[in-house]
Amino acid sequence: MSYCVNCGVELDRDAVQCPLCQTPVINPVCPPDLQATPNFPLERQEVEPVDHRELAILLSAMAVCTGICCGLLNLFLWRGVPWSLFVAGACAVLWVWLVPPLLLRRAPSAVLLLLDLLAVGGLLVLIGALSHGSTWLYGIALPVWAGFSLILLAIWLAAKKRSFLSRALLILGGTVLFLLWLEFVIDRFLGAYQPMWSLIAAAVGITLMLPLAVIRTRPNLRRQVRRRFHF
Ligand SMILES: [Zn+2]
Repeated sequence: MSYCVNCGVELDRDAVQCPLCQTPVINPVCPPDLQATPNFPLERQEVEPVDHRELAILLSAMAVCTGICCGLLNLFLWRGVPWSLFVAGACAVLWVWLVPPLLLRRAPSAVLLLLDLLAVGGLLVLIGALSHGSTWLYGIALPVWAGFSLILLAIWLAAKKRSFLSRALLILGGTVLFLLWLEFVIDRFLGAYQPMWSLIAAAVGITLMLPLAVIRTRPNLRRQVRRRFHF
């Protein structure tokens, strides 16, 4: 057994140079045994990359199969309730969430996010239509979802290539806007708009945003905060 004269690492029997510091191994008592089986594979092999198109086809087939199977089952089980359409709608949403990101790999992330949000909106419309719940659908569910989608998209677009502080500010601002919108929609649905809890939440949000905004505009302060919190 040999040890590297330079760094002292233990060497394999077949090593002609140290694997760490590349110092040649010259040991007249124990020369490198070139016939010994090497401890590590000499060939470099790479894992085959996942074929995104095949994966997309597999996922689509699974979604279609689930939809058809549930449709057929629905013909025999609880015939009066169109439950299989709910399952088919959920499958369609999952399909939109999983398959377009695999196929449209160069599409902007905001476009994919828009598709995801629209898919959930479509599922809400389907549930509303099947359960004859147009009042809650158009009164609460769709306006809340539309507001959430618009705010999320705006944050997504604005937060691109921004610093951690700017992103935190955008997320806080978006949350405040969404809560104000949520109370507005719920109040309008139940009767008259009387803002209360959303204003308290907005006050808390703005109180949190103010110091962040101040830190953001002062490079010196920003550096100190970064050092203190190890950003
Ligand atoms: Zn060495």
